[in-house]
Amino acid sequence: MSAPARIQLLTPRLANQIAAGEVVERPASVAKELLENSLDAGAARIDVEVEQGGIKLLRVRDDGAGIEADDLPLALARHATSKIRELEDLERVLSLGFRGEALASISSVARLTLTSRRRGTPQAWQVEAEGRDMQPRVQPAAHPDGTTVEVRDLFFNTPARRKFLRAEKTEFDHLQEVIKRLALTHFEVGFHLRHNGKSVLSLHPAADETSRARRVASVCGPAFLEQALPIDIERGGLRLWGWVGLPTFSRSQADLQYFYVNGRMVRDKLVAHAVRQAYRDVLYNGRHPAFVLFLEIDPTVVDVNVHPTKHEVRFRDSRMVHDFLYGTLHRALADVRPEDQLAAPA
Ligand code: ADP
Ligand code: MG
Repeated sequence: MSAPARIQLLTPRLANQIAAGEVVERPASVAKELLENSLDAGAARIDVEVEQGGIKLLRVRDDGAGIEADDLPLALARHATSKIRELEDLERVLSLGFRGEALASISSVARLTLTSRRRGTPQAWQVEAEGRDMQPRVQPAAHPDGTTVEVRDLFFNTPARRKFLRAEKTEFDHLQEVIKRLALTHFEVGFHLRHNGKSVLSLHPAADETSRARRVASVCGPAFLEQALPIDIERGGLRLWGWVGLPTFSRSQADLQYFYVNGRMVRDKLVAHAVRQAYRDVLYNGRHPAFVLFLEIDPTVVDVNVHPTKHEVRFRDSRMVHDFLYGTLHRALADVRPEDQLAAPA
């Protein structure tokens, strides 16, 4: 074998493309990053426009705080974020993003345009990046307060990735699921989704209990809400609230399971175990419960910085969290009248 090549720094573009491999898998992952940015910016309304399942076009527009003109090129740079400044901030991070790599990654594998007007400033500005080397040019643009990010032709310059994209419908289903997950925890925000020119989802801000329940029905279907117990339990600094699907609404797939920790959707082994145990006596084998649940916990005793996309968390006192979840759900389900308990699956 010949001598190995000399060491060289990766170009920023290649470094970003490699990083993109971790966070940008398909249109849905792009949507997740863009929507989380809009939420972090304090948007009250988010409009998502999609063409061809998000492969051709994904446009996310918000009315959030916007970005200063001078910061626009930085927004596309890797490891640039407005959300944390020092290590200690990670301990109490409440924003959805903080790694400062999403826009850099996306813009290295798609044609990205970012247009923004900082609230209280007279002018909007735009930057574009087309998977070129990362020297974006800033120019004046027309835009109301807030931000629009447009992502076109995902993976146009990385054909190997593009091959892994599925049919338009499949990609769109994934993308829609991302919006549903976020809509279920940001009740105060309006979400509007259009696909190929047609309105698919229109969720208005839900301020009170009735309208929150209505949103849950829009996202999970009215049948879920009819067969779910609303709960809200607080103990030892932990609060669990939401909707616990009754055994009569069990599913053949685990497709209606939404669990949030401090507003962040998680898929966590410990959580899953506690829930499974709580349902064990009331569900037939092979059936899956449906639920929309929110755990609120002191952010300093939970670590969300585990993996950029995997929805895992680490609890400092995992035993305590497990027992609280299991105990609370078990009791809620025990209140279900016995004749409901082993009702035939719907
Ligand atoms: P992160 O969200 O981890 O900070 P991103 O690459 O997603 O990293 O975004 C980089 C920065 O760009 C953010 O920290 C934020 O300051 C700014 N930004 C991105 N999207 C928006 C938006 N929709 N509204 C306001 N600022 C945004
Ligand atoms: Mg982000």
